[in-house]
Amino acid sequence: MKKISLLVLAMLFCFSAAVYAQQLPKVAILATGGTIAGSTDAGGTVTTGYKAGALTVDTLINAVPELTKIAQITGEQICNIDSSNMTDEVWLKLANRINTLLQTVDGIVITHGTDTMEETAFFLNLVVKSNKPVVLVGAMRPATAISADGPKNLYNAVALAGSPLAKGKGVMVAMDDTIYGARDVTKTNTMLTSTFKAPNSGAIGTIIDGTPHFYAAQSRPHTTRSEFNVAGLKSLPKVDILYTYSNDGSKVAAEAFIKAGAKGLVVAGSGAGSIHENQLGYLRELAKNKQAIVVRSSRTGSGYVPNANDGTLNADNLNPQKARVLLMLALTKTNDPKVIQSIFDKY
Ligand code: ASP
Repeated sequence: MKKISLLVLAMLFCFSAAVYAQQLPKVAILATGGTIAGSTDAGGTVTTGYKAGALTVDTLINAVPELTKIAQITGEQICNIDSSNMTDEVWLKLANRINTLLQTVDGIVITHGTDTMEETAFFLNLVVKSNKPVVLVGAMRPATAISADGPKNLYNAVALAGSPLAKGKGVMVAMDDTIYGARDVTKTNTMLTSTFKAPNSGAIGTIIDGTPHFYAAQSRPHTTRSEFNVAGLKSLPKVDILYTYSNDGSKVAAEAFIKAGAKGLVVAGSGAGSIHENQLGYLRELAKNKQAIVVRSSRTGSGYVPNANDGTLNADNLNPQKARVLLMLALTKTNDPKVIQSIFDKY
């Protein structure tokens, strides 16, 4: 008799645990590599010289057992690379997979290297077609380090992706207990865990004990209100970035980019988008002859770049790497400089 009631109790417990688990949000983790999946044999105090993209998605998930208390987790390995080697091919694969998955899950987390996280985040912000949360997360210290930041960051990202509060906020980056909108977030420090900032607009929220708190929103159109769609695209238009600097005396780099097939050039200008006169002439000719779209951004790291009214366009306050993303997407729709300028004014 005692045995039977114990059995009934155990069955009841399992049943209610299963019911509870089913009520948790479904969050898919798509892993792409980076330091969050980084490992070294050199010991816990070592935070450089490790191999990024060494651990698999299952290892990342298993390292944080608390995840099963906040979400029904599935994991997929999209690639396993250092994000400094990110490619358009991975972006297109990610975008398509996310758009498919969001029909059945409640939110998505992408584990990603921090180096180019801001670019992937902005790209996805413009091509994901859902208001469900999409969150990028990474780490500054490899998984083998003392006080590795990856596990807590991953926990926060899953909590955010599974939260109804995060719906309609666009693609976000969750790092160091802070939530950033994809458009303005940027990596500002080579080593520190507090590297991510949003210099033009600030963070949009924080995550405390697994609960997101929002204080601001991305003001520019994103996801469901964005006109860009990469479904069916096999490649993206080629856009390169030029840097301007003192004694920058030639058009060599710009010419080489054009010869290699660039359809657009973003210039990391000095100050409010200034370009050294020794290369400006060539860039103006390119714009005038409609050989390429030339967009002025700034190497300062923040601030608005005005239009120079010389045929070149202005990137608003997007940094050069973000301006490149937007120009690539704009060129999937049009080659008309006026329309492309309106896209920069809008997004
Ligand atoms: N190089 C690494 C990467 O971007 C850095 C990191 O993840 O923090 O993949």
